[in-house]
Amino acid sequence: MSEISRMLEKIEKDKVKFIRLQFSDIQGQIKNVAIPAMQAEKALTQGISFDGSSIEGFARIEESDMLLRPDHSTYTVLPWRPEEARVARFICDVHRPDGTPFEGDPRYILKKTLAEAAEMGYTFNTGPELEFFLFKMINGEPSVEFQDHGGYFDLAPTDLAENVRRDIILALTDMGFEIEASHHEVAESQHEIDFKYGDALKTADNVVTFRFATKTIALLNNLHATFMAKPVYGINGSGMHVNCSLFKDGKNAFFDPDAPLQLSKVSQHFIAGVLNHAKSITRVANPTVNSYKRLVPGYEAPVYIAWSASNRTALVRVPAPRGNSTRIELRSPDPTCNPYLTFASILAAGIEGIKNEIEPPADASKNIFHMTEAERQQAHIDTLPGDLITANRHFMEDDLLCSTCGKHVTEGLNSIAEMEWDSYRTAVHPWEVEQYLTRY
Ligand code: GLN
Ligand code: MG
Ligand code: MG
Ligand code: MG
Repeated sequence: MSEISRMLEKIEKDKVKFIRLQFSDIQGQIKNVAIPAMQAEKALTQGISFDGSSIEGFARIEESDMLLRPDHSTYTVLPWRPEEARVARFICDVHRPDGTPFEGDPRYILKKTLAEAAEMGYTFNTGPELEFFLFKMINGEPSVEFQDHGGYFDLAPTDLAENVRRDIILALTDMGFEIEASHHEVAESQHEIDFKYGDALKTADNVVTFRFATKTIALLNNLHATFMAKPVYGINGSGMHVNCSLFKDGKNAFFDPDAPLQLSKVSQHFIAGVLNHAKSITRVANPTVNSYKRLVPGYEAPVYIAWSASNRTALVRVPAPRGNSTRIELRSPDPTCNPYLTFASILAAGIEGIKNEIEPPADASKNIFHMTEAERQQAHIDTLPGDLITANRHFMEDDLLCSTCGKHVTEGLNSIAEMEWDSYRTAVHPWEVEQYLTRY
């Protein structure tokens, strides 16, 4: 039986009535077209065409016809939809009508970068840790009112979200996720659910699915789940730490039992590459104006460009496990990022480090936040960009990241950053009114 007939049989057996064909825009937002199950054969054989001109960062009017090609491996039933009219989804690749991949599709950009690493024999694995807040819905509208006042690893009754978290985990498990752990995070109403690491394409798909499932299940519980990086001033924001490793011939290429810290040369070069491009990666990994309100001292988020095997204040940390679990953890990304572009950028930077055999600076063993400015300067510890427009400038000057993202996406990212910054910069914020209205 062909792959397509097997898929069609599965769709029928699952009693699926509608199929959502999903893809991501340049900002990593899920878009979808729903088709009745009757159209599944056409979708799987020829693809479904759609008009890309209205999708953020996609095509111009004159080249707007696009084709969605479902990736069979991403098939899953949406567990929260009614059983009598089941809905399934596929994540799709976006092609031009002539069948060539569309270079504005973030999934394609990640695939291309993964293929470059594969040429060197490497598989790139990522393990993202998404944090999010659950806020109350008030009169049908999302608010910033806490649902609970729990803290790190709290249990019920402080952690009122236990049931919601369980519902989210059950839904994700039904959708094929292997959930490893979940816990209340440090801030009020803040949570983290971790799923098993895997190859970067699969985990990027998982990130977009995770966000969409979490928001849906929260809403069914009359709550608003947000992945906004810093929704409330004065408490922790939400990060998306990305654990990264390279495998070669089935073995973890970051592990070397005989090396200092048991970290292989490959892992050291990878770290060096990531640190070298840290400022421009920030544009991609921290894509909103608000992202930069998280990257400040005092809230467990990174600010300084350094790596460490022992302390969590560094941008890149090496978690304790070794052997096949050897990995580095990049702590800057936040869950508003486009995971496809973020993973592609991290990988491109790491691979450049390996190709050029770049050595990382010395491991920062001290708490960097307790160092003085002069001590940091002496240790050559630089700072992440403080706002979106500065990060965007670094990105636009970074040939490696621009060529990784390609002309289409680079231009899109640049104009989005400029537009957002301009709109933010010219707005009058409550802080300003509070400070100045009566003083002057
Ligand atoms: N919420 C923190 C951040 O912004 C991380 C806290 C943690 O996981 N220890 O990155
Ligand atoms: Mg964690
Ligand atoms: Mg956490
Ligand atoms: Mg972590």
